[in-house]
Amino acid sequence: MSQSGQRIGMLGGTFDPVHLGHLRSALEVHEALSLDRLHMIPAQQPPLRSQPQVSAQQRLALLKAGIGDTPGLVADDRELRRDGPSYSADTLAELRAEYGYQSRLVMVIGFDAFLRLTQWHQPERLFELAHLVVIARPGYNDPLPESLMELVEHRRVDSVETLMQRPCGGYLPLQLPSLMTISATYIRQCLVEKKSVRYLVPAPVEEAIEQGRLYQQRD
Ligand code: ATP
Repeated sequence: MSQSGQRIGMLGGTFDPVHLGHLRSALEVHEALSLDRLHMIPAQQPPLRSQPQVSAQQRLALLKAGIGDTPGLVADDRELRRDGPSYSADTLAELRAEYGYQSRLVMVIGFDAFLRLTQWHQPERLFELAHLVVIARPGYNDPLPESLMELVEHRRVDSVETLMQRPCGGYLPLQLPSLMTISATYIRQCLVEKKSVRYLVPAPVEEAIEQGRLYQQRD
């Protein structure tokens, strides 16, 4: 496929640490949207968290270990190379410049993150750059606040096919086959309490956490 016609996804997150909820969702969204590539992009450390125990570079290393050789998924460190706050709109603008104006660019977020979308920097601009695909997360069924409805409802489409007819601007809620309740918060809690995280994270991530003695203290 030509450079201009590619289907590219972006899944941002703290990935603190990456877990099978992220990775299985990434793989399933890659398949559901027939993406050529899904960029998984760790964010800078949130400014309000005190004394991070695990650096952004360590989170990136865990993400790389988790992805391994999975076709189509890439650990992308671009937000860690930028100074200042990392806005998703700026990240999408970079991807748009790289892949060209005809490529189908999709920002993928979980429903919990979606509920806060109107508080993001320049939410309207996100749709000038990309489509938004919202994946269901178990336990999050709240109705959309009115301001969020206003932002997304007129952009809603009902199928991947319709979404991919244009390069950007659409909104598609998507229920992936494997709903997982796993969260990074739960994994950090297990590690503090010296409980096993086996089968919650990929084996190489579990190994790297053990070797680096990461997440042993409460945040
Ligand atoms: P924390 O528990 O620390 O808040 P998290 O597990 O929600 O972290 P993030 O790195 O904040 O992970 O999430 C990155 C993106 O992945 C978000 O859009 C989030 O909604 C989505 N996501 C996280 N866990 C899952 C899951 N189990 N299923 C589907 N999507 C998920």
